[in-house]
Amino acid sequence: MTATTGPILPGQTLGVLGGGQLGRMFVHAAQAMGYATAVLDPDAQSPAGLVSHRHIRAAYDDSQALAELAGSCAAVTTEFENVPAAALQMLARSVPVAPAAAAVAIAQDRAAEKAHFVRCGVPVAPHALIDSEQTLAAVDAQTLLPGILKTARLGYDGKGQVRVATRAELADAWQQLARVPCVLEKMLPLREECSVIVARGRDGALVHLPVQRNLHRDGILAVTEVFEGNLPSVGVDKALHAAKSIAQGLDYVGVLCVEFFVLEDGSLVVNEMAPRPHNSGHWSQNGADVSQFELQVRCMAGLPLAQPRQHSPAIMLNLLGDLWHRAPDGSLVAPPWQQVLALPGCHLHLYGKTEAKPGRKMGHLNVTGATPEAARATALQAAALLGIAPF
Ligand code: ATP
Ligand code: MG
Repeated sequence: MTATTGPILPGQTLGVLGGGQLGRMFVHAAQAMGYATAVLDPDAQSPAGLVSHRHIRAAYDDSQALAELAGSCAAVTTEFENVPAAALQMLARSVPVAPAAAAVAIAQDRAAEKAHFVRCGVPVAPHALIDSEQTLAAVDAQTLLPGILKTARLGYDGKGQVRVATRAELADAWQQLARVPCVLEKMLPLREECSVIVARGRDGALVHLPVQRNLHRDGILAVTEVFEGNLPSVGVDKALHAAKSIAQGLDYVGVLCVEFFVLEDGSLVVNEMAPRPHNSGHWSQNGADVSQFELQVRCMAGLPLAQPRQHSPAIMLNLLGDLWHRAPDGSLVAPPWQQVLALPGCHLHLYGKTEAKPGRKMGHLNVTGATPEAARATALQAAALLGIAPF
C-alpha cells in the first residue's frame, strides 16, 4: 500500500475488484458507513455490481478499466484471491491497495502459501509439489498416500481436488488435472475444522474475530458455529496465535482468514488462507458488534480498528442452490422464507443471484440466540425447514 497522509473518510469512494457476494457485502458495509463504492467486474448481473454506486464492467486485466477504477477511488480492495496480482500492482501505482499484491500472490499459490506458513512456524500437512514427471515419481507413498491432489492455483469450494490412494491413482489424477502444478497433501484424520478472521491495519494494529468451527460437506462450507466452548481452549489459543503470526509475517493490511484442521489427537494444522473476508466469518454480520466487512472497510480506509466483541452465540447456514426447486411449470421455487423467518434470531442474507445451481452459494442464514443451546435449537429447526441435513 502506498503511503497516505491520513484516513480516507466517509463521503469518499472505495473500490473493490470482483463483484461476487463478498464484494456485495463489502459494498453494503461501506455504504452503511457513508462511503460511495465502485466495483470492477465483467458480469452485468454481478451481485456487487447490482448494488454499487458505480459498476465498471470489464475484465480484471483491462488496463483502461483499472485506470478508471484507480481514478475514481480513494482506495481499492479485492474480494477474491484469483484476481491477477498484476492488476493489484498496477492499481497500487496510483491508489492505496489493501491487501497488497505481494500478499495476494502468496495466497493464490498453495505451494507459496505453505512455504509462508512454515516460515511462520505454523504446522502444515505433509505435502509435495507435483510439477513434473520427476516430482511425481519422487513422491514418498509412505508419508503422502492416501492423499489429496490439489491444483496449486485457482481452486475453491473443493474444485480442482482429487483424492488418491495409490501411485496409479495419483498419476491418473494429475492427468485429469491437466498436469498443471499441483500440491499433493497427505489425507489427515480430521476431528474438526476451524478458521480465524484477523484484521490488520496500516499501523500494524491487529484485531480478530473469535475462532469459528466449520462443517464442510462435499468440500463446501455448510455450517459455521461460533460460541464459547465450541472448541477446546488450547486449540483456540494456538489458532489465534498462528493466524496473527501469519498476518504479521506478510506485513498484511486488510482482512485475512486462516483455515485450520484439528486432528484426531487434538493438534492443529493450518490448511490455507484467504486474503479477504471469508464465508466462515459471515456470522459476524449479526453475532458481533463489528462485522468482517466493516473490518475490511476500516483497514483499507486507514480507520482505527477496535477489537470486535461477539454479543450473541451464532450459527451460519450456507444456502446453496440445491435448496431451490423447479416447479412443474419450470419456475424456480424458493425455500420457505416465511416459516424460517418466523423463528427467533434468524437473519436472511441473499446475494441477488437469479440462477440457482447445485453447489452455488445463493445466500446464508445467520442464527443468533441468547445461549448456544438456543441458537443450535433454532438453527436445527431452520435447517429442517430448508432441507439442510442436521449437524
Ligand atoms: P475453499 O472453498 O475453502 O477455498 P478449497 O477448494 O480451497 O476450499 P480446501 O480448503 O483445500 O479446498 O479443502 C476443502 C475441504 O476438503 C477442507 O475444508 C477439508 O474438509 C477437506 N480437506 C482438504 N485437505 C485435506 C487434508 N489434507 N486432509 C483431510 N481433509 C482435507
Ligand atoms: Mg478451504
